[in-house]
Amino acid sequence: MNQQKSIAIIGAGIGGLTLAIALHRKGINAIVYENASEMKFLGAGLTLAGNAIQSFKAIGLQNEVLAAGKILKRLFIKDHLGRVITTADAEYISAKLNIVNNFAVHRADLHQVLLQQLPEEKLVLGKRAIDFQQYNDRVLVTFADGTSVDADYVIASDGIHSIFRRKLVQKSQPRYAGYTAWRAVIDQSATALNLDETSESWGRGKRFGIVPLTNNRIYWFATMNTSAKNERLKNYTPQDLAKEFEDFHLPIPQIIEETKSEQLIWSDIIDLEPLKKFAFCRVVLMGDAAHATTPNMGQGACMAIEDAAILAICMDEEKQVEKAFMNFEKRRISRTTKIVNDSWRLGKVAQLENPLLISLRNAAMKMVPPSVAEKQVKFLSDISF
Ligand SMILES: Cc1cc2nc3c(=O)[nH]c(=O)nc-3n(C[C@H](O)[C@H](O)[C@H](O)COP(=O)(O)OP(=O)(O)OC[C@H]3O[C@@H](n4cnc5c(N)ncnc54)[C@H](O)[C@@H]3O)c2cc1C
Repeated sequence: MNQQKSIAIIGAGIGGLTLAIALHRKGINAIVYENASEMKFLGAGLTLAGNAIQSFKAIGLQNEVLAAGKILKRLFIKDHLGRVITTADAEYISAKLNIVNNFAVHRADLHQVLLQQLPEEKLVLGKRAIDFQQYNDRVLVTFADGTSVDADYVIASDGIHSIFRRKLVQKSQPRYAGYTAWRAVIDQSATALNLDETSESWGRGKRFGIVPLTNNRIYWFATMNTSAKNERLKNYTPQDLAKEFEDFHLPIPQIIEETKSEQLIWSDIIDLEPLKKFAFCRVVLMGDAAHATTPNMGQGACMAIEDAAILAICMDEEKQVEKAFMNFEKRRISRTTKIVNDSWRLGKVAQLENPLLISLRNAAMKMVPPSVAEKQVKFLSDISF
């Protein structure tokens, strides 16, 4: 592409930062504008599948990212009493497919790695985009502090509540999945955990996941069926939450009790009904702004990272940026749509409350051969750059 063009990336989340690095490495000039006035390293853990790691590899970031996290060897799905429903041998599958799969990292550590790879002058903080106007030859983005920027092109990576998507696709609103979630990162509990394994335990309308991280920390998450924006649950202390999970197997109640109130992060689970377009002339949507998904497949950030790798390639290959945006849309829309839909359905199955349906589900899952997990990993990691 013409390297004199100016590109504004809005939002310095995982997607926006990864893209900025990818463009920088291809000699394409882009500046990231981020709402936050400082990059506070908040958040919990993330699991990244093979597709995210391959995308980092395509950008040349794989080693730095892998050094910040931990590769996990096995994944278990259990019932609330701890009986194994199904398991996936991530180590075997990774070796067979020759990929790095099932990688866990603290979000803060990943952000730190990404920030270290981006020249300081490429990121402007304290810039909350509040509106934009698209003209024939440019896009004017206005910020809450009264300033504005005139860019040739804009890449909106401003997350699920994207102001760009809200204006471009007015009927697209986040939809509530029917369950809420708590997350935390804590030092490994006194109880013995296998730090090579990740697990999810499924109860009635509730799930609890444990993901080991580096430096003797664990990331845990809990989900529960409820109405949206439930004020009572929002104010739950770890002790309140431990009561909700008191019938779950050990060490789940202890892990929750060992968590400090300030470590607890609460959020309703929301996603976006798949869009039919990501490219709108001089503006393109990416990451959660384009295709936010429920976290059931652990693919939201993975898709944002894939977007970054592929959008950078499209912009490198095609001189006309509007065409590059269209090519990106073509390459991304059916894959991201499938993942959003599969993840939504998986959430419904995992959050079942009816005991009979739960027994049937668990019995059916026990009969699923290991090749199915392998196929899923293969589908996710089969990306051509
Ligand atoms: C409970 C939970 C667990 C998850 N677990 C996983 C997982 O294990 N694996 C996985 O792959 N994904 C997971 N995800 C999904 C993942 O968090 C997101 O998909 C990912 O963070 C999306 O990245 P993004 O850069 O597109 O958007 P975001 O991370 O939302 O970043 C958007 C950025 O834009 C900035 N911004 C917003 N509005 C503006 C504005 N108007 N102007 C300027 N800046 C703005 C924000 O401050 C932010 O920095 C999970 C999500 C949840 C809720």
